[in-house]
Amino acid sequence: MDKTSSFYSHEGKPIRCKAAICKKAGEPLVIEEIHVHPPQAYEVRIKIVCTTLCHTDLAFSKYDSGPLARFPRILGHEAVGLVESIGEHVDGFKHGDVVLPVFHPHCEECRDCKSSKGNWCTRFAEDLVSNTRRYGMASRFKDSMGEDIHHFFFVSSFSEYTIVDIAHLVKISPEIPVDRAVLLSCGVSTGIGAAWRTADIEEGSTVAVFGLGAVGLAVGEGARLRGAAQIIGIDINPDKFAIGKKFGFTDFVNPTLCGDKKISEVIKEIAGGGVDYSFECVGITSVLSEAFLSTRTGTGKTVALGINPAAPTELDSFGLFRGKHVCGSLFGGLKPKLDIPILVDRYLKKELNLDSFITHELKFEDINKAFDLLEKGKSLRCILWMDKK
Ligand code: NAD
Ligand code: ZN
Repeated sequence: MDKTSSFYSHEGKPIRCKAAICKKAGEPLVIEEIHVHPPQAYEVRIKIVCTTLCHTDLAFSKYDSGPLARFPRILGHEAVGLVESIGEHVDGFKHGDVVLPVFHPHCEECRDCKSSKGNWCTRFAEDLVSNTRRYGMASRFKDSMGEDIHHFFFVSSFSEYTIVDIAHLVKISPEIPVDRAVLLSCGVSTGIGAAWRTADIEEGSTVAVFGLGAVGLAVGEGARLRGAAQIIGIDINPDKFAIGKKFGFTDFVNPTLCGDKKISEVIKEIAGGGVDYSFECVGITSVLSEAFLSTRTGTGKTVALGINPAAPTELDSFGLFRGKHVCGSLFGGLKPKLDIPILVDRYLKKELNLDSFITHELKFEDINKAFDLLEKGKSLRCILWMDKK
């Protein structure tokens, strides 16, 4: 991009822009003008091109107590942006780069980031509550009265401009259309990664996926890419079954039509004794218990992706003794800076179906409609365009 263009005229200075603010739990977001500070050391200010809504945003817009509930706040954590301003000590990013912000950190220097196992970042990942990664509760957003606005998951993409720490930023190829790239910023990468990195599904495996939102459908897509023989989708919303077929699902179960039978029994019948892998993509602990019961005794593996920070989990202890595995997965076990470019590449090689995740497009001002569509189960991903009139 031309360095003299108006795009850079605020470089290093505060900028005024529009943001959708969540002022109170459960209330519609309010679009207001805010101030975004310039980036500090290890930070970059990005201009959001488009953003989408993930179920986690919906959940956090409603929590009204506990350490994770904080208002006023700028939610949003799936987005694509362009680098507009660069703080000190930032290597590897330049103005105009196309970038994905990612809620899960990747410092690339700590013991776990350097290990090939897992995707934990010992240095940063423990802290989920701060506003900024290296500066604690310091906020980079102020409202028109000069009061701080809280960040969300180190991304806060429901704003025309946001500040992101470089540990949360991935540079991607500009060849991928931005409305496809945005899907890789959270939900779709999480699902594909869970099948690929966390479960490491082998060819010919049987798989059950509970919850066919974007995350669950992406698990199906990841299982398809790994050559799974049978991919069973479980959802209480039967509208999800037609779209599931586009991602390689072979069978569907609607729990509301199973009568007295437990879902796990139905799955065991379909998969000849239990599936090799099951995935919980809803965020309900009783669904996780059923997902665990659905796997094969001795070798079955269950991956928990749905997030419910408040509820304790009960699992069949005999199943555990008999060799079944269960594990959680944040961001699908992906190391953002290493694995997202691989997914972008697979999309560009036409191996990955990202197109079918986009069910709606709206202008940013209509963000509350996007919340409504997701809550009612009508959308998978709704692209919110910042500059669309
Ligand atoms: P979504 O709302 O689009 O999809 C959830 C699906 O579950 C819907 O299709 C719904 O009909 C279905 N469902 C609801 N109750 C059910 C039940 N009892 N049995 C079967 N299906 C049921 O949500 P999403 O954006 O796909 O996210 C799914 C979950 O993944 C959320 O809990 C979200 O917070 C979590 N998530 C986790 C990570 C991670 O890193 N682990 C990342 C992103 C999202
Ligand atoms: Zn690290």
